[in-house]
Amino acid sequence: MKKLLQKIVGKSPWLYRINAGSCNGCDVELATTACIPRFDVERLGCKYCGSPKHADIVLITGPLTVRVKDKVLRVYDEIPDPKVTVAIGICPISAGVFRDSYAIAGPIDSFIPVDVNVPGCPPRPQAIIDGILEAIKIWETRM
Ligand code: SF4
Repeated sequence: MKKLLQKIVGKSPWLYRINAGSCNGCDVELATTACIPRFDVERLGCKYCGSPKHADIVLITGPLTVRVKDKVLRVYDEIPDPKVTVAIGICPISAGVFRDSYAIAGPIDSFIPVDVNVPGCPPRPQAIIDGILEAIKIWETRM
C-alpha cells in the first residue's frame, strides 16, 4: 500500500499557504514563486491548492496574531498527515519585530511543529524555493 501511494502521489505534493497575520511582504514573495516563470515552483513538481484538505506541504507566513490563532490552528488541523510545515520569514520563526507585543501569540512553533525554517524579512524567492525543496524531501520520507 505504501509503495502504491508513493507511486501515485509521491512526486506531486500540493502546497497550501496560511497567512497567520503577516504584513503581506512574505506573501508577495510567495506569489512570485507561483506567478513569475523565473522562479516557477511548479518545475519542482508541486502546485498550490485552495483547500487545506488537499494539502501536503503547508507554508505559514506571519507571527501568529492573537486574533487569527484559533482559526490558523483549526485550518492546520484540517491538513491530513503526513504533512510538512514550512515557516516562511522571520515572523513565524520568532515573531520578528512583533515579538512581545500584546497582539502576538506566536512564534508558530509554540503551537505547530515546524519542519523547515526560511528566514528573512521577507525571504527572497530563491530561499523560499530552497525551503520548499527541502520540505518535499522530508515529505517523501514520510510517505
Ligand atoms: S517576516 Fe517581514 S515581510 Fe514577512 S510577514 Fe514578517 S514583517 Fe512582513
